[in-house]
Amino acid sequence: MPLSSPRFKDEPALQAVDSGSRVLRDGVSGRHVHLVQMALIDLGFAMPRSTTSTHFSPDGIYGRETTDVVKAFQRSNPPLTVDGQIGPQTMRALDARFPRFTHRVNLHFRSLSLSDVPFNRMMSSIERVYAQYSIDARFASGESLSLSEDEQNRFTVIDQNCDWSMESGEFAELEQMGTRVPPHDVAVYIVNRFQEGDVLGCGGHAATRPACAVTHDCSRWDPAHEVGHVLLTSTFSPVHANDQRNLMFPTSSNGGTPLTLTDKQLARIRTSPLCRTI
Ligand SMILES: [Zn+2]
Repeated sequence: MPLSSPRFKDEPALQAVDSGSRVLRDGVSGRHVHLVQMALIDLGFAMPRSTTSTHFSPDGIYGRETTDVVKAFQRSNPPLTVDGQIGPQTMRALDARFPRFTHRVNLHFRSLSLSDVPFNRMMSSIERVYAQYSIDARFASGESLSLSEDEQNRFTVIDQNCDWSMESGEFAELEQMGTRVPPHDVAVYIVNRFQEGDVLGCGGHAATRPACAVTHDCSRWDPAHEVGHVLLTSTFSPVHANDQRNLMFPTSSNGGTPLTLTDKQLARIRTSPLCRTI
């Protein structure tokens, strides 16, 4: 039976474990191991040695600690064989522990030019990043802002620098536009471009209006990155991770593999009032 948990179902290497063509054991490493480790942490198993990095954590390395934790999981889930390896039975037992989303983030899209936006790709990329951690990042509304010609011209290029707190300027004005977003939801503004040519997104917003902005031609994972800034807030450190596999790596990527969160980022995101328990 294919994996069904939002955490695992889109991960080819874990599907291969489920189908019996691959076994996870001491010595293997990668994103798929990271996802399994994070799931085990969420089940209450401590993994101090695998979680020392602030940039890619848990570390995705199947070593002694992961082997021991998998054995503990197997011991508490009879009749699993206690061998410290993840084959189909253990993978399915783990999958069954995460049947549905535990948290939800509502996203409201406000676009200057909706027709420009490869919207499905943008939305599915956000969904995939957060689903790996049982967070349902959900499309709550979409609206094309009907701007006057003057406004169109004015907002063609957003010529304000991206700061954390933007109570005035073009971003602030833009983020007042369109149907008001509920206070604990996140608005995602899709703009044409920013003055700073290489910038494709900005997570800054006014204190009472959680919002971010991305360009219509931003990279694949940029919207999820900017939503990440909004959820982590300005006080989370480090703001950016220096591992390219992490969602908060500062340079955007178009790769096909969803980026990851560290256990620290995830813990912080779960405390956000914008990320509700469901
Ligand atoms: Zn950033």
